[in-house]
Amino acid sequence: MAVLAIRTLGDPVLRTPAEPVASFDADLRRLVSGMFETMEAAPGVGLAAPQVGVPRRLFVFDSGEERGAVANPVFAWRSEDTQEGEEGCLSLPGLYFPVVRASSVRIEGVDAYGVPVALEGGDLLARIFQHESDHLDGVLFVDRLGPEHRREAMRLLRDVELGLAAPPAVRGRAL
Ligand code: ZN
Repeated sequence: MAVLAIRTLGDPVLRTPAEPVASFDADLRRLVSGMFETMEAAPGVGLAAPQVGVPRRLFVFDSGEERGAVANPVFAWRSEDTQEGEEGCLSLPGLYFPVVRASSVRIEGVDAYGVPVALEGGDLLARIFQHESDHLDGVLFVDRLGPEHRREAMRLLRDVELGLAAPPAVRGRAL
């Protein structure tokens, strides 16, 4: 499968809560392999199905240490401990702002064959799981910024849209 087109802000699919994955068939595995290719080409560390125009509860990730695909994920546990870290999103190219997330999480879901999986992660992995799960609910990382950063992000997005500013450079490590 070829690299898929990544949807960007303004595309309604990014704001639509995704439906659970119901069929674990060859089409799903083709989609998963296309999402891996797209994430690698971007390059990114995570990619959710709505970002390639498919409103299903599914994401792929590659933290450098762990890599996988999860469908229908739910949080089984989140630490009370939080961590602020810079985040970017493949659907908001070039925007990077600090976001507060739980430091560690445990998610449960199924793999591309419908087999139950449980994944635990801290730091970057925990951030990826939370960022991608947000995508499945139609939430973008700019929704989670403090008021000042949110204003700055909106101003930047508007200026790019109006042609008043060049799109900011992509620095990688987006999700
Ligand atoms: Zn994203």
